[in-house]
Amino acid sequence: MPGKTLKTEAVVLRSIRYGEADRILHLYSTARGRVNAIAKGARRPKSRFGGRLEPFFRLDLLLHEGRSELLTVTNAATVDGYPRLRASGPALGAAARACDAVLRLLDAAEPNPPAYNLLCRYLAMLDDPALPRAAGVETALSFRLKLALAAGFSPELASCARCGEAEHLSGFSGAAGGVVCAGCEAGSFELSGEAHRFMVEAIARPLAEAPEAGERELRQVERAVGETLEHHAHVRLRSAA
Ligand SMILES: [Zn+2]
Repeated sequence: MPGKTLKTEAVVLRSIRYGEADRILHLYSTARGRVNAIAKGARRPKSRFGGRLEPFFRLDLLLHEGRSELLTVTNAATVDGYPRLRASGPALGAAARACDAVLRLLDAAEPNPPAYNLLCRYLAMLDDPALPRAAGVETALSFRLKLALAAGFSPELASCARCGEAEHLSGFSGAAGGVVCAGCEAGSFELSGEAHRFMVEAIARPLAEAPEAGERELRQVERAVGETLEHHAHVRLRSAA
């Protein structure tokens, strides 16, 4: 068939039944960021794709690129299927929310290695029974902050997003895109020092070392990230936990 072949690694974000026996895959790929592909015959009992075209699978793919925007899967090999993640309700929920966030926030067909590596690292952590904190809300919010950074929508945390003042940072404004000082707090909500510290540390530390914080602080963090993305990326994320 005319067209060319694209070889890439990708994570299955969503897998949709299509027609009699096909699947449409929403993929996050190393070569091209967000792409969609059809796997013909994938739901037949003896399909050569087996069960690996399910959400969260990390795959080595050969994709045929014709005239349509939809690529065609010609070969799929498993890099990691994260089998233990699939046996845990909290880990499954966290993985689903992570893939949903990638779908909403990283919709461009262009490579973004930090975002891809972050998603794979999070899935591997959720698959590791020695890391029970991975499925918790602290790690979910750290993932969200790092994903926002990779997408270019990280909130301003070092100084007031309106006037640049470095002291008395007591509020957060999604419209301003970051922390705001007492003099610029119109339209902001209260952000505790603890919540502010959580965000700074979550971005600075590896995902496996997500900081701890109280429930109230974590709600403030979720709201801060959510409002920043609503105002600047025009996406609304599902609840983090
Ligand atoms: Zn200010």
